[in-house]
Amino acid sequence: MNETSILQSENIPPTNREILNKEDKKALCEEVVALLAEQGAVLVAHYYTDAEIQILAEKVGGYVSDSLDMARFGFYSEAETLVVAGVRFMGETAKILNPDKRIIMPTLKADCSLDLGCPPERFKSFCENNKDRTVVVYANTSAAVKANADWMVTSGSAVEVVTHLASRGEKILWAPDKYLGDYVREQSGADMLLWNGACVVHEEFKSNELEEMRIAKPNAVVLAHPESPRGVVTQADFVGSTSALIEFVGSTSAEELIVATDKGIFHKMSLVAPQKKLYLAPTAGESATCRSCGECPWMAMNSLTALRNSLLNSDSEIFVEEDIATKARLPIKRLLEFTASRGQVMYGNNDA
Ligand code: 13P
Ligand code: SF4
Repeated sequence: MNETSILQSENIPPTNREILNKEDKKALCEEVVALLAEQGAVLVAHYYTDAEIQILAEKVGGYVSDSLDMARFGFYSEAETLVVAGVRFMGETAKILNPDKRIIMPTLKADCSLDLGCPPERFKSFCENNKDRTVVVYANTSAAVKANADWMVTSGSAVEVVTHLASRGEKILWAPDKYLGDYVREQSGADMLLWNGACVVHEEFKSNELEEMRIAKPNAVVLAHPESPRGVVTQADFVGSTSALIEFVGSTSAEELIVATDKGIFHKMSLVAPQKKLYLAPTAGESATCRSCGECPWMAMNSLTALRNSLLNSDSEIFVEEDIATKARLPIKRLLEFTASRGQVMYGNNDA
């Protein structure tokens, strides 16, 4: 039995990127740098945010990475304020791990379709109906969903954690991404019951059109984030988290790469391998059936103006109710302890 996602398409905003001229961009960046210094704040950004945000984060001693490393960085950072440029679950994770720090985000409207498609009350009853299973949730969930989980995982850690749990004979209840769940089940051989959620960005990569693109570009290798549908993942030469995909671009001898994940990642990929040709895997195109066209509408909300405003006004601070945070801390810390016990360290490509 699969639980049904309730995400409606009217909940998906259009992708609106801020367009600024050079002077305004420069002035905003200077303002942000000064405000960060004044407030002893550190900027932590995801690879899907705009190039300007990523450049700024690295320039001022912040960090750019995948969701696992963003959580680790925040946990080990000594800064009193973290500015998290990404989507809301990333800010919530930072707050849960660092209850005494001030966590702000450029906007509190930056949702995630996986989080929206997994309402806490319905998820709770899904768990209650399957009490014999270990509850493993993806990081892309609300704090309230995590509060019902035994483990939190990220795309960079899911296969390893679930393989470990399956080796102990545990059956898994997985939420919310059915495609990532399917990939993890296939890789780990675990008995997994899946919630029926999907990422609206990755779900749009098309397997038939990808086949055609591979024929048209016979030397290109295919990279896919595991939130992509099975028909895309099975055609991929490499599947991994955003950090792992970037690392692969730097290490492969291939000169042409087809990439099935959010376009924002191209900034870092072209820094690690400037001579390589990168193509976005095909979506439905700019047509009526394409909702995101390879761009996360919520990540795009992290504009420079919103970042500046978040540092000026105190209206975009993240708070998590204490009892929820206390329960949600357990599955998150389990993951950090698990990866540390396996000798894993942060591997963001911040030297690129
Ligand atoms: P990563 O942890 O691989 O960065 O993925 C986060 C995400 O939201 C992908 O859509
Ligand atoms: Fe969520 Fe998909 Fe956006 Fe990642 S790309 S934040 S999974 S909606």
